Amino acid sequence: MAKVVVNQAKCVKEPEPLCVNLCPVSVFQVKKNTKALVVHEERCIMCRTCQVNCPGQAIEIIG
Ligand code: SF4
Repeated sequence: MAKVVVNQAKCVKEPEPLCVNLCPVSVFQVKKNTKALVVHEERCIMCRTCQVNCPGQAIEIIG
């Protein structure tokens, strides 16, 4: 299974993290109340779209 490592300090959260819309299998969600980035790692198909496109270089896919 893939490991999705997100460096929260580097995450560009505004207006919304890019990965939320880019990921084809909805690995990433933003909690409405806290704006925390929730990662459903078990869904990842390792396409690396998020890693390549993250403006903060905050994501590393390992697997
Ligand atoms: S590698 Fe692809 S499937 Fe996995 S979290 Fe990133 S965008 Fe989603």
